Amino acid sequence: MRYDQNLLDDIRSANSIVDVIGEYVPLKRSGANYTAPCPFHNETKPSFLVSPRLQIFKCFGCGKGGNIFTFLMEYEKITFTEAVKKLADRVGIKLPAYKEQSKEDKSLYNSLYGIYESVLRYYQNNLTAKDNDGLAYLKSRNVSDEDITTFKLGLALKTQAGLHAHLIKKGFSKEVLTKCGLFTRSNGNLRDKFFERIMFPVYSSDGKVIAFGSRIYKEDDDRGAKYLNSPETPIFQKRKHLYGLYQTKDSIIKNDSALLVEGNIDLIALWHHGFTNVVASLGTALTEEQVKLLSRYTKNIYILYDSDSAGKEAAARAINIFITRSVFPKFIILPPNTDPDDFLEENSAGALRDYIDDAKTFYNFIFEIRHAEKNLDNKRKALNDVITFLGVIENPVQKELYVQECANLFGVSETNIFRSLQALKKKSWKPKNPLNLHVDPYHEEKDIIKLILSYPEQCADYFDDIEVDYFTHPLIRKLFKLFKTEENSDILAEKGAHLLDYFDPEDADFISDLLFNELPFSRNNFEKMLTGLQIRKLNVDLVALNEYIIKHPDNEEKILEKKAIMHKINQLKKDFKGGTVKKLLS
Ligand SMILES: [Zn+2]
Repeated sequence: MRYDQNLLDDIRSANSIVDVIGEYVPLKRSGANYTAPCPFHNETKPSFLVSPRLQIFKCFGCGKGGNIFTFLMEYEKITFTEAVKKLADRVGIKLPAYKEQSKEDKSLYNSLYGIYESVLRYYQNNLTAKDNDGLAYLKSRNVSDEDITTFKLGLALKTQAGLHAHLIKKGFSKEVLTKCGLFTRSNGNLRDKFFERIMFPVYSSDGKVIAFGSRIYKEDDDRGAKYLNSPETPIFQKRKHLYGLYQTKDSIIKNDSALLVEGNIDLIALWHHGFTNVVASLGTALTEEQVKLLSRYTKNIYILYDSDSAGKEAAARAINIFITRSVFPKFIILPPNTDPDDFLEENSAGALRDYIDDAKTFYNFIFEIRHAEKNLDNKRKALNDVITFLGVIENPVQKELYVQECANLFGVSETNIFRSLQALKKKSWKPKNPLNLHVDPYHEEKDIIKLILSYPEQCADYFDDIEVDYFTHPLIRKLFKLFKTEENSDILAEKGAHLLDYFDPEDADFISDLLFNELPFSRNNFEKMLTGLQIRKLNVDLVALNEYIIKHPDNEEKILEKKAIMHKINQLKKDFKGGTVKKLLS
């Protein structure tokens, strides 16, 4: 948690969720709740609910849910910190500097932010102080003064001692210098890691410099690493950030689309030519976190990687990550072996616009890069890839539409594609425990935790008997742990919105869904469901025990333990025949 719990509570109680959301969408009273057409998906019938009692919202159409903070984050595409600030401002609460870290951590974090800010200015001064070959290089690549200012480009000088001297002069301790990732050690001395390079600062979403990308700029520079990023530090985890997003996010929101490129120079070239809705992956394979981050701003993503084989393969590898998040990017294929920067050097912005208009859906992209039209073998391989991707699509309508198109494209029947999808499903189907038989493997766990949330007093008697391991879903486990350890678990449940503070904003949909519960409480049914989970847990223990016994057949103790567990399972099954237990074990 970033802010003090009391402060968040103050902000929350001063801002009624009905008032806040009512400023964005027309809310109508409906029983204990308020409803409206959902602002997050297109609909005519209102399935968006706001609960004044729980201080949360939930859309039963698209699944979005959360408290006032998450609402603002989603609606205005801002970070948690920004949402807290906005709501505090709305009611005139003054925010202290945040205090999520321990004192020691905090001073390390602050020192690192301080160093990077100082380094940024140092590099910037190097580039703009006087005419230099770094600036000349950028000019030769059509990077304008405005581009340099917007992206705060800088220059690491030829010497390997300049930055070090600068930071010592600024008063940073040696300890922090060793942790900032910008130095290498040689004979016990720290030497600048980056020299004779153009420096590209990487920003966090709240505008702090947290890392640098770099590239060499001299024709005759034969150092192996053309591009080099600063390493991960406590303030920078590469997989969570996108280069340029801080500067381009407004444009991405305004256009409701984003161009995703590989390199920082590509990004600046696109920006220079008016394509301001652009971000760059940080030189590595695209990660789930980056996709999650970008799709917060838009779902219309155009992948514009280099059109060499490495770039095409990297784009193909990204497909799965996007589809898993129900985002269907388009792919732009430039002429062979060009990158966006080269392309714009030789062609007009209008020419690139044509390529963007001609962007391909993933199956067309795979068809083209695998040269499926050339021979049957290529076609078969391409289709195999495409079927794997189709298998990941969750929405059945979307899936069917794509299957139709793929059938046309590859000249095979839809039936056969569906058959292949079935076969794929069977192949990946590995029963681990009885719950895998259900469509939603967490169905029972969800019901139990919903009951605990809605009827904490009735359920409290059982807490001592329920083990955290009964639950397999990580968020449900975490929720249950909270209930088991918090003294006033009823207060915890009473304030639904409060509970969300214990979780990441991304988890708000899931948690709010659990909070909106329609299930009635019955002791008998609750006990049955618990027994089901208990049996499942014992079965998991049994499997582990069996594996152990196979390797150590002489261990009497384990054999007895196995017998005891089997006996226990049988007993439990006998006690509660039918109902949920039967469903769980079928
Ligand atoms: Zn919705």
